Amino acid sequence: MKFRGGYNIRFQGKPGGLLKDILLPEVLYLPLESGSFNFSALCATHGQDVGLGDVLAKDPDNHDIPLLSPTNGKVNLEAAPGHITLEDLSDDSSKSYTYHDELEHIHKKMGSAGLKRYKLLNLGAWEFVKEAYTGQIPNPLSTPQAVIVSTFRLEPFLIRGDVLLKEHLRQFTRGLEHLQSLLAYQPIYLAFPKIKSNFAAKIKEQIRGYAWVKLIEVPLKYPYDSFEIISRHIGLRHSTGSIWGVNVEGVLAIDMALTNSKPCLERAISVAGPGALMSVNLRLPTGYPLSKIKNEYGLQNSIAIDGGVLTGRLLTDDIKGVPTDCRGITFVPEQLGREFLGWLRPGFGRQSYSDCFLSSLCSHFPERLTNAVKGELRPCVSCGFCEDACPAGIMPHQLHKLIYQDDIDAVEKFRIDLCVECGLCSFVCPSKIELMQQFREMKQTILKEKEIAAAEAAKEAALESATEAE
Ligand code: SF4
Ligand code: SF4
Repeated sequence: MKFRGGYNIRFQGKPGGLLKDILLPEVLYLPLESGSFNFSALCATHGQDVGLGDVLAKDPDNHDIPLLSPTNGKVNLEAAPGHITLEDLSDDSSKSYTYHDELEHIHKKMGSAGLKRYKLLNLGAWEFVKEAYTGQIPNPLSTPQAVIVSTFRLEPFLIRGDVLLKEHLRQFTRGLEHLQSLLAYQPIYLAFPKIKSNFAAKIKEQIRGYAWVKLIEVPLKYPYDSFEIISRHIGLRHSTGSIWGVNVEGVLAIDMALTNSKPCLERAISVAGPGALMSVNLRLPTGYPLSKIKNEYGLQNSIAIDGGVLTGRLLTDDIKGVPTDCRGITFVPEQLGREFLGWLRPGFGRQSYSDCFLSSLCSHFPERLTNAVKGELRPCVSCGFCEDACPAGIMPHQLHKLIYQDDIDAVEKFRIDLCVECGLCSFVCPSKIELMQQFREMKQTILKEKEIAAAEAAKEAALESATEAE
């Protein structure tokens, strides 16, 4: 498949290439639920003293991915509902984490590769490995047909992949070696932006000797950093086996776990957006209080989003700390009332895909991006912008109409399954229809219906074979 569609939104206020370390706060709030995880199996008790890397809870629906303690402290299960609160924090290294190898049965079944994967799971590195087509966490003991490592990130306001890569190039290449040691003969594709720079040349030089790494050059256009889009481009099909996707942070976590036997307890996130006082990249422990980030970096009357501006989820006030899968916090000004004399500024201060605003006459300028829709909510005007921008080659406007008609069979025929949920269709739509949200929900509905149908078919088959046996 050739790359098609895609669009780079010309927002200003993206974070630069520097990473700032943040000191340990007085208290950490570790959310038990996040976009990807539900740590419902508690392992720590109220009042317990825990050490760096101790398991606080596990996600039973996600291969028991652990929620690890980012530091030494005392567990408080009552301070904030839905969180494990850690108090009396200290990063005293005398209590540093040690890993104990065990699990004879895994060693017998899968040898040293099996033990390594189990170690990655226990040390919090496995949560960075994703199924390319579904975004789910793969079974640590499964075997993929290929692995895609992405070195860049393109969604507006998220931390760029090269920020970590520049600081840890040696660890990154060592992490790639570890990744290869988990596989038998399956290839690793290293997705790399099609750019000419000294740094790009340096990376290519570093991996020159790795015959098992195949370099894939990808245009720097959103959302070509999507594992699903890259898989389709390479010709790797979901139906022929699992494909793992790992980003730079994941490769570094793998290196940390397998070289140093250390858990991955910090996150590198961006704090940016049009509602941010300044745009920065921060390295901080998971559970870092969101109130501190909001007070320090967010403008008053801004809403905070967990993730990028196109696909992120709203961080409501009941979420107290940085979630374990957080990639960035994007601030967007909240416009509560009508804009004063807004009609005098028809499209000034707003970048547009369609070049229909007067702003298209200007070059780059700070976007007046807010959460207000400014009266655009209206039916589809069949402009075709969504189809033009869609990287999956489907027709979002047609799908929208079919969903409105509740014609699920036709929705499937128009290949809603190919949607990678990049959010570009919603962004470019001049009618501000929540297309991506509709597709996300419809995909879930179809999946559930298929699961119910499969369960009923299995039940009927079991009944039939029981009757035959009688
Ligand atoms: S239909 Fe899906 S893949 Fe296409 S632009 Fe919309 S969200 Fe992205
Ligand atoms: S961009 Fe919006 S208005 Fe235009 S065709 Fe797509 S759904 Fe319709």
